[in-house]
Amino acid sequence: MVQFRFRRWLCWCLAIVLSCSLLAGCSVNSGAGKTLRVATEPAFPPFEFQGKDGKLQGFSIDLIKAIAAAADFSVDFENIPFDGIIPALQAKTIDAAISSMTITQERSKTVAFSRPYFQAGLAIATRTDNQEIKSFDSLQNKKIAVQIGTTGAEKAKTVPGAQVRSFDSAPLALQELLNGNVDAVINDAPVTLYAINTGNLQGIKVIQQLLTEEFYGIATAKNSADLSLINQGLSKVLENGTYHKIYQKWFKSTPPVLPEKTPFANENKANINSFSLIWQSLPTLLTGVVVTLQLAFLSVVCGLVGGSLIGIMRLSAIKPVRWLARAYIDFFRGTPLLVQIFMIYFGLPAFCQELGFTWSLNRLVAGVIALSLNSAAYIAEIVRAGIQSIEIGQSEAARSLGLNSLQTMRYVIFPQAFRRMIPPLGNEFISLLKDTSLVAVIGFEELFRKGQLIVAENYRALEIYAAVAVIYLCLTLVSSQAISSLEIWMNPTKKSNSKI
Ligand code: GLN
Repeated sequence: MVQFRFRRWLCWCLAIVLSCSLLAGCSVNSGAGKTLRVATEPAFPPFEFQGKDGKLQGFSIDLIKAIAAAADFSVDFENIPFDGIIPALQAKTIDAAISSMTITQERSKTVAFSRPYFQAGLAIATRTDNQEIKSFDSLQNKKIAVQIGTTGAEKAKTVPGAQVRSFDSAPLALQELLNGNVDAVINDAPVTLYAINTGNLQGIKVIQQLLTEEFYGIATAKNSADLSLINQGLSKVLENGTYHKIYQKWFKSTPPVLPEKTPFANENKANINSFSLIWQSLPTLLTGVVVTLQLAFLSVVCGLVGGSLIGIMRLSAIKPVRWLARAYIDFFRGTPLLVQIFMIYFGLPAFCQELGFTWSLNRLVAGVIALSLNSAAYIAEIVRAGIQSIEIGQSEAARSLGLNSLQTMRYVIFPQAFRRMIPPLGNEFISLLKDTSLVAVIGFEELFRKGQLIVAENYRALEIYAAVAVIYLCLTLVSSQAISSLEIWMNPTKKSNSKI
């Protein structure tokens, strides 16, 4: 009885403590100003980047902290890729974004911008040994790397005959230039200059003349109440000298006078309906499908050849051969495919340059190598399991008929094992088909990247990614149907049943 009372008393105490802390939490939130979820992509030094201690730093980070202090709100930073920021603002998963975002007419139709907080411009970067590219006009028919969804990417599109490759971040585009895979990068001038001046980017120069004059703004969703709060804070820090100090800290110079209003009025976009949007995007997406299929087929063929060899090596009687195959499988199965793609495409050429010779990889080749090396590891295990699943009596019978070990494998074991391997091989093909989307990180314009590029232009993430998902689904359904048919075709009993 006493024990029961004590437990009830304990429950009451817990309930009171819990409700008090909840109430306290609520009151702290409303009393000390609101908390804004502010997105940034910390891959754009000196504006926003992660320091050695892993903390966010940069001009924009200092500025938003100063704005928050001046307007009495607190900031909760969220790390979001640049091309995902506008869709996130639209979906209201974030309240604002400070990510060196240029105020453009197109963006002003989708999100609202604060008054400008920085004056920047685009510049061309080339390798120091490049004597050909001296101006915008000399970019014609050249290979240009850009960051997806940026003003640099928009500008590159206007160059006649240029091959534009888009990367997820500015540092990756610059790495592509360093590796000698492209002739130039179009990027925000202060960022490229900072990378050169800090010694992080050697062998690259910037063409002096700026291509554009741009202003960065803090973005919020349309009609957001937070915009006036941000504008108030920004005006305050501009007037009280804090902006000046932050500018001095990062650029060691005096800031230019900034306009008080955004260059483009926060207008509204003519809303095109979802169906016509998808219909319009379909031809572009279908060109991506062709590339995806090409990538998947080439990789599965190479993966099958490599995987079968490694699978057989796994069954070898020689120990070191078995260990070698095991090490291969463990490495490629145990490291993420994305890391392998980066290592092959960006890492290997950079490593070769360190050794003193220039060597670059074609993107299709790099994609196929990465995907097939990875899938070979899985296929090897499928092959091994398939062969081991055939009863020992089969090879004994073959031997007693006078077949040698190669003939036993060729005529008795492998045909039966292959039939058993078809379903897991089918699974492997389907996951490989989906994994091709990872190759987008090296600027390969397969289906997913095509979708990303469309979203970077029209900011209609929901419809476009839904269309991309449906296309992937169709591809995998067709593939699994083809694999089932192959399974029936390879199985004599099922084959005769299906004819009845
Ligand atoms: N200022 C450029 C733009 O708005 C690039 C910004 C960025 O990559 N963070 O498009």
